[in-house]
Amino acid sequence: MKFVKLPYGAVLAIAMFLVTPSPAWTQTRPIFLQGGTLIDGTGRPAVEDSVVVFQGGRIRDVGKRGEVTIPQGAEVIDAKGKTILPGLIDGHCHYRDWMGEVYLAYGVVTCPNISNNPVEWIIAQREGVRSGSIRGPRVWASGNVIDGPPPGGVGAGALRRQRTSIIVENEEEARKAVRMLVEKGVDGVKLFERLTPQTAKAAATEAHRLGRPVFGHSLDIFVSADAGYQSVEHSWSVLYTSIQDPKKKADLDMARMKGKIDTAEAHVFMEPVMFDKIIKVMVEKNVHWSPTWATWFRPLSQRAQEMKRREIALLKDPKLSYLPPYILKDTESFFAKYENAAPEKRSQVLAGYKMIQDFVRRFAGAGGKIHSGSDPNHVLAGYGVHVELEMLVEAGLTPVQAIQTASINVAQAWNKDKEYGSVEKGKVADLVIVRGDAAQNISDTQNVEMVFMEGKIMDISYHPDYKNPIPRPIEDRPEQ
Ligand SMILES: [Zn+2]
Repeated sequence: MKFVKLPYGAVLAIAMFLVTPSPAWTQTRPIFLQGGTLIDGTGRPAVEDSVVVFQGGRIRDVGKRGEVTIPQGAEVIDAKGKTILPGLIDGHCHYRDWMGEVYLAYGVVTCPNISNNPVEWIIAQREGVRSGSIRGPRVWASGNVIDGPPPGGVGAGALRRQRTSIIVENEEEARKAVRMLVEKGVDGVKLFERLTPQTAKAAATEAHRLGRPVFGHSLDIFVSADAGYQSVEHSWSVLYTSIQDPKKKADLDMARMKGKIDTAEAHVFMEPVMFDKIIKVMVEKNVHWSPTWATWFRPLSQRAQEMKRREIALLKDPKLSYLPPYILKDTESFFAKYENAAPEKRSQVLAGYKMIQDFVRRFAGAGGKIHSGSDPNHVLAGYGVHVELEMLVEAGLTPVQAIQTASINVAQAWNKDKEYGSVEKGKVADLVIVRGDAAQNISDTQNVEMVFMEGKIMDISYHPDYKNPIPRPIEDRPEQ
């Protein structure tokens, strides 16, 4: 088993660098939230004039006004004209040390990290948030991706995405890699495209034996479903799976790997005739799907102009001057690329986008579980979740269905839905209050007014001096 060593030697030191934990905050006085429209994350219809009571970090009661009595000594918050949402969960997060404030400001209180490195760093982040020393979303951690050797014709290490991967050659190595990550403390395991069906299945089985969910890139969803993946990531998992001619699929895969065709452009080769078959197996085996399409396709949304305006303003907010400059640059050039595209190029990508919309609609209609996630390539993490919600509604989902994709669906895939992911009695009091009626206008999810994490009200303002006490020890750049 080759484990690509990172160019620094202080990995263990990070895990040892325990910042002083602040005492766990305990909320004593009950909070009585009344009058808002509740979208609880379960998929139930929105409840107007609702009541949510929480205390001690837990939701104590939920109902309509009049059904629930005000507990003695409760602090009453009037939420009239507002929508109450479950604390949002990013369906495809790659956490970086500067992201904490933006996540909270967008009501995203859980960041289930789909691959990160060093694994010790992401675990230290999880613990830092838990202890109260880091102001940011709760982290569910997975570490380095486990992958197979690069395909023929591509030299070892040539694939950018493999530079921090754990490369396994056989089933025993695959199981060993999973055990190593689990020993380091990960909550889930991320598998990649180059695993053989056998190594993928061995890794997934070992992860499940150790009680860890599996998330994966996939060139063949039938194989991933058979291996028992909880979720396949990215729209291109459907793209490749739909292509029936193996040579055509391999050629497209190589062309994309070598940068001859970009990810968005490749989708024009989707074969919708296969959609029903793919959907059937995903629904039967409960394989969730994280399309991560905002990062690739939002310039083609009907709302693209508004998105661009909003994003550029956000990225230029002086209070966010600490954001890495590549994000603004990438966002600007990404929108510009589509604005300036030749008409045939634009219609090619648009054709792909429309096919994904069609898949989304049919998958959701069949009961498939979607995850909305940031996948911060050309999009700001945290904010990206909300764009995905808008795109789902544009594709035909209701706002209530869309909210599930950034709450309960993700919690289910991570096997955390007993505690998280919806506004239900007994669950952890993660709640977001937004202005407006998100059940009517999904963009209202972005008007975040108050965020409660484990019943505690969070500071959702930006501070130019925001600093993570445990900086990530490697250069920051987008990751898939
Ligand atoms: Zn990713």
